[in-house]
Amino acid sequence: MAEQKRDYYEVLGVDKNADEDALKKAYRQLAKKYHPDVNPGNKEAEAKFKEASEAYAVLSDPEKRRQYDQFGHAAFDGSGGAGGFGGFDFNGADFSDIFGDIFGDFFGGSRARGARSNCPMKGANLRTSVRITFEEAVFGVEKELELNLKDECKTCHGTGAKPGTSKETCPKCKGQGQIVYTSQSFFGTVRNVQVCPDCKGSGKIVREKCPDCGGTGYVTSRKKIAVSIPAGIDNGQCVRIPGKGEPGTNGGERGDLLVEVIVANHPIFQRQDTNIYSTVPISFAVAALGGEVLIDTVDGRVAYEVKPGTQTDTRVRLKGKGVPSLRYRDVRGDHYVTLVVQTPDKLSKEAKDLLKQFDALTGDSLNAVKNAGNSSKDSDDSKKKKFWK
Ligand SMILES: [Zn+2]
Ligand SMILES: [Zn+2]
Repeated sequence: MAEQKRDYYEVLGVDKNADEDALKKAYRQLAKKYHPDVNPGNKEAEAKFKEASEAYAVLSDPEKRRQYDQFGHAAFDGSGGAGGFGGFDFNGADFSDIFGDIFGDFFGGSRARGARSNCPMKGANLRTSVRITFEEAVFGVEKELELNLKDECKTCHGTGAKPGTSKETCPKCKGQGQIVYTSQSFFGTVRNVQVCPDCKGSGKIVREKCPDCGGTGYVTSRKKIAVSIPAGIDNGQCVRIPGKGEPGTNGGERGDLLVEVIVANHPIFQRQDTNIYSTVPISFAVAALGGEVLIDTVDGRVAYEVKPGTQTDTRVRLKGKGVPSLRYRDVRGDHYVTLVVQTPDKLSKEAKDLLKQFDALTGDSLNAVKNAGNSSKDSDDSKKKKFWK
């Protein structure tokens, strides 16, 4: 290396234990003194400004400061002192962040971002939403949306100028697209660059407006757009339709249309990811003796054989009757059914008599339940289980 670098703490004039505020304060002082806008053409001031900025960039970042404290300048010179930290680009984004932070208040907000170029730019994305049913989300659906879409005006081909006329050079910025202001501030002359407000940075203005688009270069019309909603989509997910957003500028491609899908609730099915959940009532007799019940699924009714001695709230799985996976082809979730035993409450005299007979037949167990009920809840439950087995 040609010359020895000065210690960063020395550059900023702070001690090794300086906190964030002290660093910032020190850097502010130096930056005010040496900033190139304050010292136009002064190479020495520029070098000092760079040196201070570099020191501040490192010391204000806790991780970089730690590396610097440990390895010194070797941490950043690319010779591998800290292993892989590499060269640190002080003219890059990090530098401008610090710059903006420190000077934002002096320069009256953001510095010019540069005039808008004439490069092709992709148009903005548009957002809309569509409502679909639970089943449509499970199996996918084609929907047609109607929305207002901007298109390039055919009369003026997007220039916004009346046919036969053309855009003119903006007189305010003389076609530069930006305006340079100089002003006196408390620490010297400040150069401030802003995007031209008249031409919005394009450098050209429309003198005679196109009658069909009012000078905007765009016309809006109602358009029908087909949306293919894939099977397995869930509430709140988006379908992207490329090229159906806002038109681009300077020949850039159109933005995209993002369609948010809102899935209606279902009266009997709930969904979690790719699984479906529902509740099915079964009779007391089927629960005890077993038997076939019909269960509604998104594929229609299916017969299910309930096992004898099924307890209430037993959950059974209908494999592959859930929602198709959006991510994996030919993968489907399951449908979980909770079987709820219904206790009969409207009994004929005959039915009551039969139940009494039933009670008498299984009397031992029932009495055991009654007696156990006085002692403790736990034994009560265990006896009940025994009874139903
Ligand atoms: Zn037009
Ligand atoms: Zn202008």
